[in-house]
Order: sequence, then C-alpha cells, then structure tokens
Amino acid sequence: MTEFRAPVGTRDVLPPESARWERLVALFAGLVEQAGYGLVLSPMFEDVGVFERVGEGTDVVRKEMYDFEDKGGRRVALRPEGTASVVRAYVQHRPTPPFKAWYAGPGFRYERPQAGRFRQHHQMGVEALGTDDADLDVEVVALAWSVCSRLGLSQVTLLLNSLGDDVCRPAYLETLRAFLRDAALCDEHAAGYEKNPLRVLDCKRDACRAATDAAPRLVDNLCEPCAVHFARVRAGLDSLGVAYTLASRLVRGLDYYTRTTFELAADALESAQNAVGGGGRYDKLAQSLGGPPTPGIGFGLGVERLLLAADAEGVFPVPQSSVDIWVVDTTGGTAALALTHELRAAGISADRSFDGRSMKSQFRSADRSGARLALVVGDNEAAAGTVTLRDLRGGDQETIGRADVVEHVRKLCR
Ligand SMILES: [Zn+2]
Ligand SMILES: [Zn+2]
Repeated sequence: MTEFRAPVGTRDVLPPESARWERLVALFAGLVEQAGYGLVLSPMFEDVGVFERVGEGTDVVRKEMYDFEDKGGRRVALRPEGTASVVRAYVQHRPTPPFKAWYAGPGFRYERPQAGRFRQHHQMGVEALGTDDADLDVEVVALAWSVCSRLGLSQVTLLLNSLGDDVCRPAYLETLRAFLRDAALCDEHAAGYEKNPLRVLDCKRDACRAATDAAPRLVDNLCEPCAVHFARVRAGLDSLGVAYTLASRLVRGLDYYTRTTFELAADALESAQNAVGGGGRYDKLAQSLGGPPTPGIGFGLGVERLLLAADAEGVFPVPQSSVDIWVVDTTGGTAALALTHELRAAGISADRSFDGRSMKSQFRSADRSGARLALVVGDNEAAAGTVTLRDLRGGDQETIGRADVVEHVRKLCR
C-alpha cells in the first residue's frame, strides 16, 4: 500500500509545536482587536485576475502563482498573500470606512521548495482602508512592531521608506533610469532595469549593490504632500518610541505600494531570509480591483519566519501544555468516563487511559502527560464510594468522597 505524505513544499504542524501556533495567533488577535481590527475570513482562492491586477510586474504573480483551471473552466489561484483578498472583499461589500480588518491563514506560492520557503506558508496581518491619515500609518507600523516585542523578540530592525505616489514617483523613476543607464548592473538588471528600475535597488547581487550606492533616493524626491505625509509618519513613530531605520532600498516585492512601506528584519536570521514581515500603503489598490478610490495600508507577518526568529533568539518557547488531572481507573473504565466528563463540564482539563490498562501503565501515561494530579479509582475506592487524589509531583495523597470530587479539585486547580 502507498504510504501518503504531505505534498511537496508543505508540512504538518503537530503538538506540542502546534500549541505555539495557537498562542501566536491568539496573541496577534488580542493585540489587533484591542486596536479596533475585526476578523475577516475570505476564500483561500480567488479569480486569478484579483492577483494579476495587483502584481503584474512581480515574481509572485508572474512565476509563482498557484493557479489552475477548476472543473467549471474558471481560472482560479490560491491566494499568494492576504492583502488582495481583503481589499477585494472591501470592494465587494463596501463596509463603512475606516474599515479595519485582520486575518490569519495560509498563502500559497508555486515555486521550487527550498529551506525556509514553503508552497503553503502562513501569514497574519491587518488591513485598514478608507483614510490616508498618516496617523493610521503610525498605528499600523507600531502594531506590527509590538507583535514582535510581545513575542519577546529584541533583535528586530524596522526598515522604513516612502515610495511616493503617482505625482512624484514617475519623475523619480526617470531620474533613476538615467542614473542606471551608465551603471554596471547584474545580468538580470542590465537587461531589465528599464521596465522596473526600483527592483534594481532591491537587488542583492554585488554588482547592483555597488552600482546603486550613490543612486538618487526617492525620499529626496518626494512631492510636497508625500514629504509632509512621511514626515508625520516619522514624527509619530518617534513620539511612540518605535525605532526605525530609513531604508531607501526598500521597495517591497509587490508593485501596489504607495508612500509608506516598511519591513521587519530579524537580525538573528540569515540576511537572505530575515524578513519576518512587512507592509505599506496601497492607495490605488481598491481602484485597481474595480472599487472607488480608497486609500489603505496594512502589513503581513510570516508565521514560520516569526517562529524561526523566536528560536534564534531563544524566546517564545513551545508552551508546556498539559491537562490538570489524569484519571486512573482499574475497575473497567466506567468511573473514568464519568469523572472526566464531570471535570471537563466544570472547566477542569482532564484525560485518562483507554484499553483497560494496568495501574502501572496508567500511571506512566499520567506522568508522561504532565498532569499535576491523578484521581485514582480502584476496587477499594469503588466499594467505599471514594476517590484517591494523588499529587503526581510530591506524591501526597488523600481520600475524597465521590460526590465531593469536582468541587475539591476545582479549589486545587484555581
Ligand atoms: Zn541586479
Ligand atoms: Zn508624491
């Protein structure tokens, strides 16, 4: 018989590791809901046009889209990231702005699997639509930052840039093209810089790095409104004590960004894969998906990367999760069935052994489970209408009347 395995580029997350994932999402949800963001659940696949419209010039869309034709002949794609789906939902339902949403879920890219890159990865993020107020940029950037600090990450660098808008960017791109014309670029960009000169700034190859050291910077070429906006974002972050590094090379992989863009880099990870998240403003995105002009900003954090960064810093460990009570029943299991049910109904976590195992074997399971207390029902207890409560760490034990068990245990577990 074939033994099936998880598809290439995917992986299973099992307990106890999965408890960390739960905790991470709960921590994230708690933080952003406190700031007024509500959960949005959107489909994991969309009309392929949703993603094509927003990222024509990008690798994510051109080479890595996980798209296919379904049985009805529709071209669909598994979402490569979260923003386009949430903005598509906004355009479709037109909730009252400002619309502040969060999401957590998988994203998909069809690419050759390699270390740290999965065909299915997981993201948590927020999107806020309906205002271009710079204070919202500050709020969003600070939220992303505080997720990292709540996790206990201390070696994270916040990179900040402004990509300008339709007014100032085209002129800057011409200036940049003119500069790059005479520069010695890597092979890919020597041929491709005309089409998307911004990507050259982002190139990690030595040739492009050296050639663009003295390249004109977009932050020095912003129009007045963009410059004022960016200054307010920076002042806001300063006032909140959120430290950032200006990064004129930061252009992000998707081409819908305008004005504020940012990235969180984990210094404890290798530089090629140290981005734990990022985001920015996308004031034209809603329009490009057929909606009314609606400014917006958001960020996405990679769950796998965040956990790698946490491992590298030795923070946010896999939580010790165990039940409080292990019920040991050597009378056939009926007592264990009733006791676990009553305890759980009273909000006390409890588990038991199955298959009529020996007392010794049941105690071994109890130890392995990490439970603090065991409730023991043997022939003597059954006959006397009692239960023996044993402290699995210290070894003390006491006898309790069967009818008083739940109340007694509840006091101990409080
Ligand atoms: Zn290059
Ligand atoms: Zn501008």
